[in-house]
Amino acid sequence: MRHCDVIVVGGGPAGASAARRLRQGGADVLVLDKEPFPRHKLCAGWITPEVVHDVGLDPASYPDRFLSFRRLHWHLKGLHLPIPCVQHSIRRFEFDAWLLRESGAPVEVHTVRQIDRDGDDYVIDGQFRCKYLIGAGGTGCPVHRQLFRQAQPRVRALQTVTLELEFEHQWRDGDCHLWFFEDGLPGYSWYVPKARGWLNVGIGGMAQRLKGRGEDIWLHWHRFAHRLEKRFGIRIDVEPSGYSYYVRGPIDAVRLDNAFLTGDAAGLATRDLCEGIGPAVRSGMRAADAVLHGHAYDLSDVTGSSMGGGWISRMIDWGFTRGIGRPGMVAAAVR
Ligand SMILES: Cc1cc2nc3c(=O)[nH]c(=O)nc-3n(C[C@H](O)[C@H](O)[C@H](O)COP(=O)(O)OP(=O)(O)OC[C@H]3O[C@@H](n4cnc5c(N)ncnc54)[C@H](O)[C@@H]3O)c2cc1C
Repeated sequence: MRHCDVIVVGGGPAGASAARRLRQGGADVLVLDKEPFPRHKLCAGWITPEVVHDVGLDPASYPDRFLSFRRLHWHLKGLHLPIPCVQHSIRRFEFDAWLLRESGAPVEVHTVRQIDRDGDDYVIDGQFRCKYLIGAGGTGCPVHRQLFRQAQPRVRALQTVTLELEFEHQWRDGDCHLWFFEDGLPGYSWYVPKARGWLNVGIGGMAQRLKGRGEDIWLHWHRFAHRLEKRFGIRIDVEPSGYSYYVRGPIDAVRLDNAFLTGDAAGLATRDLCEGIGPAVRSGMRAADAVLHGHAYDLSDVTGSSMGGGWISRMIDWGFTRGIGRPGMVAAAVR
C-alpha cells in the first residue's frame, strides 16, 4: 500500500493546480489520473488573464500553442458587437500536460473506483492511503460519487451539454467569436482560433431546457456547421464529440472532513460563459491552502461569473437557464 499526505484524484487544471501548491508547501502529494498525459480533453481552450497569472504562465517561455485575441466578437440576435479585450487560447491537450508537469508532483495512471475510510485515512482501491483527499476528477469524479453525492447533489437545471471539434485549419480571422441564443439555443456557439493553424469550434446549451423543448444539441450543431460554412468557408465533415458538465449552483458542501471537491467535480464553471478552467485552477489552489495551513476551504475568490456579475451576466444566465431563446426574449430579459 502506498502512503502519502495528500492524494489528488484527477490531473486536469484543478488537480494540477492543487498538486503544484501542495508541492510548493512541502506536502507529500500524489496525483492519480485514469489517463496518461497528454490526454484529450474536450474544451474550447479559452483562458483569461487571471488564469495566465494564477498558473504562472509566461507566454515567452510557454512551449506550446498560445494565442492572444485583441477582440471578442459577440453575436446576439443579429447584433454584432466587436469588444476590445485581452484574452487567450491554448490547446488543452498541451496545456494540461504542461500544467501537470510544472506541478512537480508524482503522477500515477490509475482509475479510482472505491474509496473507503480507515480511521482518519482514506484508502483508495486498497492500494493508496492518505490523510487528505482532493477530488479533481471532473464531472464524473469518483470522490463526488462516493463521498459527496448526497451532500452536494448535481442540479439538473445547471447541466450543460456540448459538442465540439478541434482541428488543423489555417484560419484568416484570428479573433474569437461567440453566438448567443441562435435559433433559440439556450446557450452559445463559438469559434476559437489557436496559434500555429489550429481551430476549435463548438456549441453548448442547457440540457434540461433543450429536452423541455423536444430538441437535442445535434439539431443546433447542424445549423451551426451551416453558418460556419457560410461565414468562414469552413466545411465540417467530421462528427464532433460531446461532453457534459455543470455550471455553478450551491457550493455548501465542497468539503467533508478532510475530503475536498474542486473544479468540475464541485460544479464551479461560471453561469454566464460556462468558463471552467479559471474556477478549476483557483479552487485547486484554495483546497491546497486549506490542507497546508489548516484553513477553512474558502472559495470566496472563485468567481461564478466571467463578466463580473452585472446585468449582462445576469441576462445571459437568465437566458441559459430560464428564458431567452425565443425571438423577443432578449428585450424582456433586459427590462
Ligand atoms: C466543449 C467544452 C468547451 C469548454 N470550453 C471552455 C473554455 O473555453 N474555457 C474554460 O474556461 N472552460 C471551458 N470548458 C470547461 C472546462 O473544460 C472545465 O471546466 C475544466 O476542464 C475543469 O477542469 P477540472 O480539472 O475540474 O476537470 P478536468 O479537466 O475534466 O480533469 C479531470 C481529470 O480527472 C480524471 N479522472 C476522471 N475520473 C477519474 C477516475 N475515476 N480516476 C482517476 N482519474 C479520473 C480525468 O482523466 C481528467 O484528467 C469547456 C468544457 C467543454 C465540455
